[in-house]
Amino acid sequence: MRLVLLGAPGAGKGTQAVFLKERHNLAHISTGDIFRHNLKENTPLGLEAKKYMDAGQLVPDEIVMKMVGEKLSEFKPDEGFMLDGFPRTVAQAEFLEKQTKIDGVIMFKVSDDAIVKRLTSRAVCKDCGNVTNIHEHEKCPSCGGELYRRDDDNEATIRSRLKVFHEQTEALVEFYRSRGLLVEIDATGMPDEVFSRVIDALEND
Ligand code: AMP
Repeated sequence: MRLVLLGAPGAGKGTQAVFLKERHNLAHISTGDIFRHNLKENTPLGLEAKKYMDAGQLVPDEIVMKMVGEKLSEFKPDEGFMLDGFPRTVAQAEFLEKQTKIDGVIMFKVSDDAIVKRLTSRAVCKDCGNVTNIHEHEKCPSCGGELYRRDDDNEATIRSRLKVFHEQTEALVEFYRSRGLLVEIDATGMPDEVFSRVIDALEND
């Protein structure tokens, strides 16, 4: 199974990907994680991407498509994966269509106000990548690791990322609906509640 996880930043795509990975044995491909990894390693790709990430803007299509194209070429035809954070523009979606067949697209729906609230309190574990709330935990509740805040999780950058989402990424809802691939999920509430909605939608269709 090959899925696209669609939704605003902070809609919970990454969290749901962890659950889906476990249940369906799907590889998790997050373009944001690949950029952050490159940035940590100080690669030219990471340094180039940082300019856009810090401003809450999209990294240019050509750069992202080349990177994703290389990543997808590592998969055998029968291997499943989830794309988290890609595509984000119609050009990227058209590119993806040429690369591989997608079986479904899950759109995680949350209001902008809820997103701002979530992201201004989001913390990520340095060791295991678990996402948690900075006001509720000092250490990772899953492994005890140190927590950090993402550089782009400040209110000004969050607002830019939401604007970009509405202007460029939301168009993909129609793109995938017209292809009969779209499943829309209410992504409010606790992660396990959202996941049971995902399972209902994916497995009872
Ligand atoms: P994310 O972790 O998905 O929130 O992505 C963090 C940042 O990485 C975004 O705000 C963009 O600057 C960049 N990014 C990630 N995926 C893409 C993409 N598909 N197209 C353009 N930029 C991206």
